Amino acid sequence: MPDPSQVFAAALAELESRGIRRRRRASTQQRDAVRYAVDGSRRISFASNDYLGLAQHPALIDAAREAAQRLGVGATASPLICGHSPSHAALEDELARFVGLPRAIYFYAGYAANVGTIPALVERGDALISDALNHACLIDGARLSRAELKVYAHNDLAALERALVETRGARRRLVIADAVFSMDGDLAPLPEMLALCERHDAWLMIDDAHGFGVLGEGGRGSLSHWFAGRGLREGAMPDRLIYMATLGKAAGVAGAFVAAVEPVIEWLVQRARTYFFATGAPPMVAETLRAALRVIESEGWRRERLAALRERLGAGLAALPWDAPRTCTAIQPVVIGDNARAMAVMAGLETRGLWVPAIRPPTVPEGTARLRITLSAAHADRDVDALLTALGELSRPAQ
Ligand SMILES: *Cc1c(COP(=O)(O)O)cnc(C)c1O
Repeated sequence: MPDPSQVFAAALAELESRGIRRRRRASTQQRDAVRYAVDGSRRISFASNDYLGLAQHPALIDAAREAAQRLGVGATASPLICGHSPSHAALEDELARFVGLPRAIYFYAGYAANVGTIPALVERGDALISDALNHACLIDGARLSRAELKVYAHNDLAALERALVETRGARRRLVIADAVFSMDGDLAPLPEMLALCERHDAWLMIDDAHGFGVLGEGGRGSLSHWFAGRGLREGAMPDRLIYMATLGKAAGVAGAFVAAVEPVIEWLVQRARTYFFATGAPPMVAETLRAALRVIESEGWRRERLAALRERLGAGLAALPWDAPRTCTAIQPVVIGDNARAMAVMAGLETRGLWVPAIRPPTVPEGTARLRITLSAAHADRDVDALLTALGELSRPAQ
């Protein structure tokens, strides 16, 4: 019989031998949200999803402190027992109004939102139609649902329509897609997708983890980005749309929400297992998020700053030998291709005090290993310049 203590040690050794064992690093954020202390040395981070620099915002820190003193630090139970509070209720109302949908439900994490929502909406006998580059938690939610899964080529509307035709016999169809794809920073064509869903009587669920706070008027996210000119008001969005966004990225705090028409959200309260079998997020987190929403809306200069940094970075990257497709988000990929080369460039940046993650297959397609640069309104121009200088040095063949 194998020694039980060796079972996982052997599995870990195998990861090590394939060069895919990951290591966490205990890093401390400094006051400005993009400078970190890692193992005693300082790094400028282009790795975080704190796109607006809110994780260190004084108004959010004050809101957290005030709420902790007034409300304590724990929710004490799941939301259907006694873990739902006036703070959660107010946050949900404000989130729904913010994105222009009738009602919202707040989850303690984006992962939990997707893994709980998808199986609540579809089951065996239904069909899920999923973009090939969707985030892992949409895929996990799809697997848990037991609905038939069809994957269509990334952003390929003809392939999406074929999948809708092929699943005609299903009881209910749900199309799921990232609104902003997390490794490329490109957008899903929501108006065309919605039109296809209307034509084929399917539901559309979008994950706006990387668009909320960044895109659209006042940072209202991808719906505003695509539909603002077409009357984005409460009640004006189609009933078949289910909007999800996370609040640990541009909003700078934690958690996520799903917004849709009233009966869909009430159904999630009844049936999303990750919602009611988990302790609610602390009310102080909900209060901190309410402060974040006010800052997202009122400090438009943060999005302007992000756009200026994106222009500066994009112009500099154009002079390098790598493919760096321009985006309108805070995510900028630099496709290096070869895995080892991407790792070497990441290591070279690290020795220069710059923290940019390299992303390899299977997270991205084979042969497209890349740097995933994320910008934050908290970056200074000189941070971007330092990154461009370092990339210039590392791109030369002698390196
Ligand atoms: C980060 C992310 C999630 C998960 O959200 P968490 O709040 O971090 O659990 C879900 N979907 C996408 C597209 C993401 O990028």
